[in-house]
Formats: sequence, C-alpha cells, structure tokens
Amino acid sequence: MTVNLNAHLTAHTPNPSLLDSAEVAAPSRPKRGVATTSALWPQQSVIKISLLGMTPEQEEFTKTNINKWAPHVNLTFEFTDDSDGDIRIAADNDLSGGHSYLGIRSLNVPAYKPTTVIGFQGGLNAYNAGTIQHEFGHVLGLQHEHQHEHNNLDINWSVVNKAYIGKGGAKEVKHNFKPLVSNVVSSEYDRKSIMHYGFASSWLNDGKAIKDNNELSEGDINFVRSLYPPVVKKKTATSSWWDYRHLHRGA
Ligand SMILES: [Zn+2]
Repeated sequence: MTVNLNAHLTAHTPNPSLLDSAEVAAPSRPKRGVATTSALWPQQSVIKISLLGMTPEQEEFTKTNINKWAPHVNLTFEFTDDSDGDIRIAADNDLSGGHSYLGIRSLNVPAYKPTTVIGFQGGLNAYNAGTIQHEFGHVLGLQHEHQHEHNNLDINWSVVNKAYIGKGGAKEVKHNFKPLVSNVVSSEYDRKSIMHYGFASSWLNDGKAIKDNNELSEGDINFVRSLYPPVVKKKTATSSWWDYRHLHRGA
C-alpha cells in the first residue's frame, strides 16, 4: 500500500505542509540539532508503532533502525501487530527516501492513513537504514539539520530550484532547504547529523559534495538526550537494605 503524502525528489523528505509552525521555542539547551518544540512528545511517552505492508525482513530491519534512537530517549517504542499505532509506517518498495509527519502531529492523521513512509527501493541497504533513522528523527520532532539557522552551506539555489521543477517547485525547495529561523529549538550546526541531507557537488557553490549520513551522529545523540533526558532512578531504601543483607551473608 502506498499513500503518497507528497512527491519528493530528494530522499529523507518530510511532508512539507508540516514544517510550518508557529510556536515558541522552549528554554532548553540542546547540544546540536533542530527541533520544533510543540511537536515533541510528552516526556516518557509510550509510542505505539505499526509497520504496514512490510515483509518480515523489512519489519526486522525497520525495528532495528528505529531502536538506534531508543537508548538515548526516555520514550518507549512499542511495536504492535495491529494497524492502529500512534505511528503507522508504510513501506514503499518503489521509493528511494521517505517522508513523515513531525512528532505528535502524527496523532492528528486519520487512522486509515500512514504517518510515515519508508522507501525500500534497492533493498535492505545502508542508505535505506539511514532513511529509517532519519524519518524516525522526524517522528521524534527533529527537523532537517541543513535547515539549521547557522548552517554554513553555500547552496547553489538555481541548480536546486531547477532540480525541483515539476517536483513541487519553489514551495518544496523552501520547505526542505530554507533555514528555519523561528519556532524551533536548536544549537550548534552538525553536518554529520542523520537529519542532514546529502548534497551533490553541483548543489553547493564550493563544489564539495556532502555524502549521505546513514547513522546517528554524536550530535544527534546529545541533542535528542537533551530533548528527552534520561530518567534518573533513585536508589530505594529496599535496595539499600538488600545490599546490606547481601554483604553480611558472606559467601
Ligand atoms: Zn527529512
């Protein structure tokens, strides 16, 4: 099943209609990255995830890549065999790249529609693994890193605009490339972020291509930990007592 939320040229592209936001950034101090604060999940949420139209191998691959985020957030990812998860991820075997709603905005999507689409063209390769991690970054509320206000990209707009003719045009370019200057929480620009697009050499005026990032960067991990900080469990009186007793029982 394919529900094309939007046609996209470039991989890892979210639904552009979701990138307009009008919220005030929270006083958070993330390490790196860009996120829309109002799209973030409540702390310690349990997110139910349905995988739609996938082979068992695609399901396993998708779970593995989503779970790369899991150790770094206080959220719980609960995969369900039912099709009514909070997040409904559909496979598209003819697509390279993907798209997704942003964070909790997925909760407003009618239940019969997917909230995220993953392209599996080319099979279970490193690029598609990167797509899953990238799209799930959008699910967590993250925006495109190359749209960081302080990115140091010198984009050749005429080439990029030309590439999008017939594929969403200027509107699509704006949504996927123009810096996000308000309504977001962000910090230091991170070119290695999973949320950063790869750029062909012709798309940048310095002619130096940026390759696709297919794994979470250290910046991604630090940023998402700042958004969903780990819960510190206090040592309970019971465990102290147990430790004490254990100590004195000897061998
Ligand atoms: Zn994207």
